[in-house]
Amino acid sequence: MKIHEYQARDLLREYNIPVNDYRLVSNAREAREASMAWKQVVVKAQVLAGGRGKAGGVKLANSPKEVEAKAKTILGLEIGGYPVSKILVCDSAQIEREHYLGLILDRSRQGVTLMVTDQGGIDIEELAESNPGAIHKLALRSDIDEAVLDSFLAKSISSKELRRQAISTAKNLYSLFLEKDASLVEINPYALTPSGEMLALDAKMVFDDNALYKHPEIEALRNPEEGSADEAEAKTKGLSFVSLDGDIGCMVNGAGLAMATLDLIKHYGGRAANFLDVGGSSNPQKAVDALEIILRNSRVKAILINIFGGITRCDDIANGLLMARKKLDVDVPLIIRLVGTNEEEGRTILREDGLDAIHDLDDAVKAVIKAGRGIS
Ligand code: GDP
Ligand code: MN
Repeated sequence: MKIHEYQARDLLREYNIPVNDYRLVSNAREAREASMAWKQVVVKAQVLAGGRGKAGGVKLANSPKEVEAKAKTILGLEIGGYPVSKILVCDSAQIEREHYLGLILDRSRQGVTLMVTDQGGIDIEELAESNPGAIHKLALRSDIDEAVLDSFLAKSISSKELRRQAISTAKNLYSLFLEKDASLVEINPYALTPSGEMLALDAKMVFDDNALYKHPEIEALRNPEEGSADEAEAKTKGLSFVSLDGDIGCMVNGAGLAMATLDLIKHYGGRAANFLDVGGSSNPQKAVDALEIILRNSRVKAILINIFGGITRCDDIANGLLMARKKLDVDVPLIIRLVGTNEEEGRTILREDGLDAIHDLDDAVKAVIKAGRGIS
């Protein structure tokens, strides 16, 4: 589950991590009034998507009038499929340098990894592609050794005093991460001000859906619009997609078959994470797009692909699945049921990649429910 920046800032404050002052508002007049006391103001769109700066959703303003005008513009935007309905006004910090500080649940290591770079501000995913060496990583244990942390942070923060602040922030962020069962927390930019303060100017947090039952205070932060952006994006890619609240991802060709598949999952005691109809076309890219959207949902524990080939050819779907496995990090079991047009060709293609297809739908549904429960 994702939360908004303002919600993440509240949590940073709760964990004694310094942030610049901020207020949440929902219209331009409120924005002006809330920021009267500040000389320079940052007006920020609150949407469950990153890259707001680039999309025009983060603007500096130097007078109350300007705050009102910028707030009005930002409230008219749509960013990453989300219309902007709330904005944050912040007491703008002067930035001397932009760092990045983040914690991520590293599944391959089964542990938490701390990441820092002195090239903050920009998208970390972008930096990971263009200059991966600039991102320093430290595998954390349950207790952080301060000396180890200090020499690690020295890779991007040369001043001892600034590191003292960063050590405290990193430790508090790690406590937050563990206590709230997060899967990602990021401060970007983690900014150095001219007065020598290290401040969080933006925060992103994602929580483990499977652990939310332990944290009603985090569950209470849930935003109903989460998931709706996926639905909008699916539409632009020619897929019809509705997110549901279960844990079995589904990719089916044809709306009727998709409905029947959901019924069958329920019948055998499972819960579908989504409805997804790839339609009747024969384009492997659709399978890639579909899997990408399904995998974005962290609740998904296994995926059922149910293709009844008519106009849709099984070999095209099989090729799409192999493309998707190359391109995406498919870290949950895929159960494939493939029948109809070019079924044999499809199976042959899948077999080359070590995948099997099941013929019978009931068997496939039972298999995906088992796989989702971790039984092989
Ligand atoms: P994002 O694009 O969604 O990650 O939004 P950010 O909150 O990170 O803002 C984008 C950029 O706006 C940052 O990298 C900063 O360069 C700039 N910015 C954000 N807050 C401040 C601030 O308080 N003062 C100044 N001068 N710039 C800011
Ligand atoms: Mn940011």
